[in-house]
Amino acid sequence: VLREAQRCVANHVSCSSLNAFVRLADSSAILSQAQNAASTTGPLAGKLIAIKDNICTFDLPTTASSRILKSYKSPYDATVVKQLREAAAIIVGKTNMDEFGMGSHSTHSHFGAVKQKRVNGEESSAGGSSGGSAVAVASDQCWAALGTDTGGSVRLPAAYTGTVGFKPSYGLLSRWGVIDYANSLDTVGILARNVQDAQIVFDTLNKYDPQDPTSLLPSTRSRLRSSKPRSRPLRIGIPVEYNITSLHPHIRSTWLSTLHYLQETHGAILQPISLPSTRHALSAYYILAPAEASSNLAKYDGVRYGTRAPSPDGTPESVLFAKTRGQNFGKEVKRRILLGAFSLSAKAMDNYFIQAQKIRRLVQKDFDAVFKRSNPLLEESFSAVSSDSPNVDVIICPTAPTPPPTLESLSNQDPLDAYMNDVFTVPASLAGLPALSVPIEREAKGVGMQVLGQFGDDSTVLDVSEMLE
Ligand code: GLN
Repeated sequence: VLREAQRCVANHVSCSSLNAFVRLADSSAILSQAQNAASTTGPLAGKLIAIKDNICTFDLPTTASSRILKSYKSPYDATVVKQLREAAAIIVGKTNMDEFGMGSHSTHSHFGAVKQKRVNGEESSAGGSSGGSAVAVASDQCWAALGTDTGGSVRLPAAYTGTVGFKPSYGLLSRWGVIDYANSLDTVGILARNVQDAQIVFDTLNKYDPQDPTSLLPSTRSRLRSSKPRSRPLRIGIPVEYNITSLHPHIRSTWLSTLHYLQETHGAILQPISLPSTRHALSAYYILAPAEASSNLAKYDGVRYGTRAPSPDGTPESVLFAKTRGQNFGKEVKRRILLGAFSLSAKAMDNYFIQAQKIRRLVQKDFDAVFKRSNPLLEESFSAVSSDSPNVDVIICPTAPTPPPTLESLSNQDPLDAYMNDVFTVPASLAGLPALSVPIEREAKGVGMQVLGQFGDDSTVLDVSEMLE
């Protein structure tokens, strides 16, 4: 344990140019915890785990990579952090991210962009928003890391960095102490070097938390466990709508070879499926997520949390709020607040927010129509699987449409192009489904395949992902 800890701590120094961490724990504290953990048993004892900086820790600041929270220190640990500490894991530090989780390349950070170095020396995107967590794992600065995934923020960085990124079903892992971006979509996710390690972290955190009102109740959890087992042989759905023209040829060929591998080696049955609402999922996500964000971020006004713009006594509140928010939010966050406030306004509500909610339902229905397992969240009468269902156990598709772009090519990228990166990750988020990005051709870095399962069928997603390692 101690040798492993020493190795990671040494890597912190050699990897500092990657900017994966906003704050590292003191190395002497890490080593002394490792010494103590050596006498503790359990699969996480002495394991070094990094935490995305939007998850609260009482001993290290929690900034969400925003200037508005740059000196904020939470008085408590998030439940997921508490669970890790109870399992004798060592928290190595807080990882860099897109401000408040808004972004796909971890470049929108008050602390500067997260970087990945290519073999030819070029710097490429680490993916976002949990890019710091992904790079920390990929560069061996920790054993595993926690991230958050609202629309793909754990899966996209995993694909870009050659790591495993797992977003469990919505409501399985506690969100208490996690800074909200869009509550109805936010999930804590796990980045690890392989599926087995991700499973160990997942098993430790997968518990009901009475402090999180969206945590799935013990009764629902036991219903999930008693659902139908997967088919033998495995049935894999291939969504035809995902074969978009902008799919990079190398990603398309890797997708095909992955499917053939499962067919030949594991006898899997490949089943083309249709998810017709998928093509509207991205637009719906970019209405719903900013709408929730604009409401969640209203509390950063310089009065209750974080940085306050200097103002003389007697400054009217509205001026103080505007100055504080104007000076301390980054430009992507401001863009989302404006977008959200607009789509929730009386004039735009019906045409944007309500339509997007309807699309979200259709996306969920599309998924329910193809899976063999019924959706455990629906009433019996709505959840019966129809007789013409393709009855698939999982869906497999690429995590991202292209390999990671260079940081240079992103410097003047249109925000809409960045949003396009999330086209394959957003549907599972809208439906709350478990999804895991597994690296293919690990050495080449940058191609991840995504395994999606029915709500609550996280164990099948993990099993199938393991077949791909
Ligand atoms: N890239 C998406 C966004 O900017 C997803 C982010 C996330 O999952 N936190 O909203």
